[in-house]
Amino acid sequence: MQSRHEHPRTFSFEFFPPNTPEGAEKLRAATQQLAQLKPKFFSVTFGAGGSTRERTLGTVLDIRAQGYAAAPHISCVASTRASVREMLQRYKDNGIKHLVALRGDLPSGIAAAGEFRYANELVSFIREEFGDHFHIEVAAYPEYHPQAKSAQDDLANFKRKVEAGANSAITQYFYNAEAYYHFVDQCEAMNIAIPIVPGIMPIGRFSQLARFSDACGAEIPRWMRNKFESYGDDTASIRAFGLDVVTKLCDDLLSNSAPGLHFYTLNQAGLTTTIWQRLGI
Ligand code: FAD
Repeated sequence: MQSRHEHPRTFSFEFFPPNTPEGAEKLRAATQQLAQLKPKFFSVTFGAGGSTRERTLGTVLDIRAQGYAAAPHISCVASTRASVREMLQRYKDNGIKHLVALRGDLPSGIAAAGEFRYANELVSFIREEFGDHFHIEVAAYPEYHPQAKSAQDDLANFKRKVEAGANSAITQYFYNAEAYYHFVDQCEAMNIAIPIVPGIMPIGRFSQLARFSDACGAEIPRWMRNKFESYGDDTASIRAFGLDVVTKLCDDLLSNSAPGLHFYTLNQAGLTTTIWQRLGI
C-alpha cells in the first residue's frame, strides 16, 4: 500500500503556542532538546476562531529562527473566508509552505458563525486561493471522530479532505494499534493513498490524559485505565507504565510500516525523548 510502504518515514513534534514569556523560554529549551532527534518538522497548534493566530505564527517563526522546520496549524471554524485568506497570506509571506488544516472546535457555549463548516472546505479553499504552494496535512481518526454519524460516514468525510487536496494526514492519538491498522486498510480499499502518520500522546499524568480523552473521544483501554487508577498518586509508577505502553505502541506501529510518528509533546521534551531513545530510531 502506498501510504504504508512507498513514502519515507516522517517524524514530527507538536507544540501549542505558549502564552507567557516564561513559557516561550521553556519551549525554546524543549525545541533545542527535541531538535537533536532530527524531526522532519515541528508543528504549532492554532486556537479555534483564531484566538492564537499571532502566537501560533510567532512560535513558528521562533522555531525557524532557531534553524528548524515548523508548520503552523490553521482552523476554519467560526472564521470568514477573508480572515482565513489573510492568515494564509501571512503564512505565505513569511515563507511558510507546510501547514496542518483543521476545522477546529469552539469551546462549548460559543456559537459558531462562520463561512466554513468542515475541514474539506478549508482544504479546497487553500487550493483555490494558493494552488500548490502549501503542503497540507489534515486530521484522521482511527477510532472515528466523536461527532461522526457513522464510521463509514467519517471515512467518506476523510476522503473528501484528501480529494480536496490534502497531501498527508496525522491521526488523533490512540492506544489501540488495531484501530489504526483497520483504518489504514479501509483507506486503502477506498483508494486513499496519502501517508497517514499515527499521532502519539505520551502519558505523564493520567488525570490529564483522561480529561483530554473524554473531550476528543480517544479511548483509553480498560486494562490501561485500571492499571493507571491503581497507582493513585504514585506519579513515578504512572510515568514508568505510561512510557512502557507508549514505547510498545510506537514499536508495534513502526514494525508494521507506519509512515512515521507525530508526537503530541504538550511542550515537554522529556517523555518524547525517552520513548525515542528506547525505540532506537
Ligand atoms: P472535519 O474533517 O471537518 O470533521 C469534523 C466532523 O465533521 C467529523 O465528524 C466528520 O465526519 C464530519 N464531516 C467532515 N466533513 C463533512 C462534510 N463535508 N459533511 C458532513 N460531515 C462532515 N483543533 C484546533 O482547534 N486547533 C488545532 O491546532 C488542532 N490541531 C489538531 C491536530 C491534529 C493532528 C488532530 C488530529 C486534531 C487537531 N485539532 C485541533 C482538533 C480538531 O480541530 C478537532 O478534532 C475537530 O473536532 C475536527 O477537526 P477536523 O479538521 O478533523 O474536522
